[in-house]
Amino acid sequence: MLNVVYIYGLGHSGSTLLDLMLSGHDRIVGTGEASMLTSPDYREKRLAERETKKCSCGQTLQECVLWGTVTQTLVSNPETTHVDALGQLAHRFSESVGSNRWLSDSSKNAQGLDAWLELKRRGAIESLKVIHLVRDARSHAASQLVRSERSGIFNAMRALRFWKASVLQQLDALKQHQLPVHSVGYEELCLFSNASTAGICEFLELPYSESMQNPSGAHGHIATGNPMRLDARKSTATTYDHRWFFRRDIQLAYALLPGLENLNRSASYPLSGQNLKQPSFRPPTATHAS
Ligand SMILES: [Zn+2]
Repeated sequence: MLNVVYIYGLGHSGSTLLDLMLSGHDRIVGTGEASMLTSPDYREKRLAERETKKCSCGQTLQECVLWGTVTQTLVSNPETTHVDALGQLAHRFSESVGSNRWLSDSSKNAQGLDAWLELKRRGAIESLKVIHLVRDARSHAASQLVRSERSGIFNAMRALRFWKASVLQQLDALKQHQLPVHSVGYEELCLFSNASTAGICEFLELPYSESMQNPSGAHGHIATGNPMRLDARKSTATTYDHRWFFRRDIQLAYALLPGLENLNRSASYPLSGQNLKQPSFRPPTATHAS
């Protein structure tokens, strides 16, 4: 029976990169934001585009070996519930991709996690593990301000407070669900990708795979998410967006909010606090020190 790894966290936390890196492992297959696609709240738009929208395997959603059957069922039976739709995806995954591989879902929201939990309760999947993905509060706030075309300390504080409340809520939910959880920091994923991906392999009880360093969605069925998934060349050349280093509104707001720095350090930099001595770990070389 199927194993599922769910990427949980805030939107715009770098889950597309993580999804691609996971799909670089031959025992993990990324499906993108699978529970988003199957959720009745979101599926209508996706289903309408299924003849043109491409999956990372190169086929359209309609032609994809995984998504073709699932989207066809949802079109024919629009009343299918979220959990049943995800159940069909899990079933189709076992048939077409193989049940000896991990299905990764990067939907990130609580709704998706709840739906997988229900499938686990029903015995429709073997195991459910969670990767809690957190991006540095300042980096997340900066991207939010850029997207909303806002700036200034008031807006920065609001964005940082949102980050803090969301991360606390996620940690609380994870504690309640008592699922196996592994924390991944987006910054560490970019800067120490060897150690970060080695930690993920250990968590999923898989041998370490070097190919996770060269993310390409070609082996996955990533049907949603940002366009990076379709351009392997672009995704391998992904560089970290460090513009927030120079934003005074964010730096000042960050310093003024009590408790934020401690939470940001522990949630966004889980590796830095650990003693890195897994045998599979190859220390990152400091070639970009200047
Ligand atoms: Zn596909």
